[in-house]
Amino acid sequence: MASKILATILLIGGKNMRIGVNKGAIVIWENGLIKRYPSLGSIYSLIHDRTCIDKIEYSLLQNTPSLELPIQSSKIICLAKNFPAHAKEMGVEPVNLPANPDLFLKPKSALIGPEENVIFPPQVQQVDHEVELALIIGKEGKNISLEDSFEYVFGYTILLDMTARDIQAVAKKKGRPWFPSKGFDTFSPIGPVIVTSDEIDDPHILNIELKLNGQVKQKGNTRDMIFTIDRIINYCSSIVTLEPGDIIATGTPSGVGPVNRGDKISATIERIGTLEVGVI
Ligand code: MG
Repeated sequence: MASKILATILLIGGKNMRIGVNKGAIVIWENGLIKRYPSLGSIYSLIHDRTCIDKIEYSLLQNTPSLELPIQSSKIICLAKNFPAHAKEMGVEPVNLPANPDLFLKPKSALIGPEENVIFPPQVQQVDHEVELALIIGKEGKNISLEDSFEYVFGYTILLDMTARDIQAVAKKKGRPWFPSKGFDTFSPIGPVIVTSDEIDDPHILNIELKLNGQVKQKGNTRDMIFTIDRIINYCSSIVTLEPGDIIATGTPSGVGPVNRGDKISATIERIGTLEVGVI
């Protein structure tokens, strides 16, 4: 089913077009005709120079693309404790919540796409699921103001911030970095699509849900975020240059819990879709 892999619909030059992935490259296509792009940045330039659209040379889509990673990224920035109920379940009282977003990085080697599998590392006792709204950055920026922040959002997707909870618990106790608990290969499934920002007027009213083997485990709404998206972009860009394709995961609602080998995770965010992955 070709439509299954379509990522999102863009209005470019008055036409309905779709953006997605094919064989690891980002593609734009229309009526079965496809053009491949090497990076999200090049697509961003394209859609912001709408006169270019008529110059695209389409090639016929020869085979049925598989669901694959929707983007190429240089970094994945994650927020910890951005929902009060989750902070509470992790033992953090409201008075101890940080004044600025609490950030950590995940490596791009942790990314996998829809319908792939999270690999449960043999040296880990407990792997937890955390469903999160992820921003995809569309243009380079440093010290981005609150007012300008949404200009830098290319779109939205779902990210699973898989966490080795036992390793993280030791790290927290001993004041060590979170990287070993968050950075394992396959610990950042994303997808199934990038919905461009023009399709979501208000990203702060989206329902978030995660089911494990069909059972609801996490349920929340982005309205409960402690730090809103403008604040997140403003703060992150005060530290690092945000680049096209960068991912910012905005934190998980409450209900995090362990997964086991053989489990099926199904993560849904309103207006975006459902990301399904397995655990092996
Ligand atoms: Mg998280």
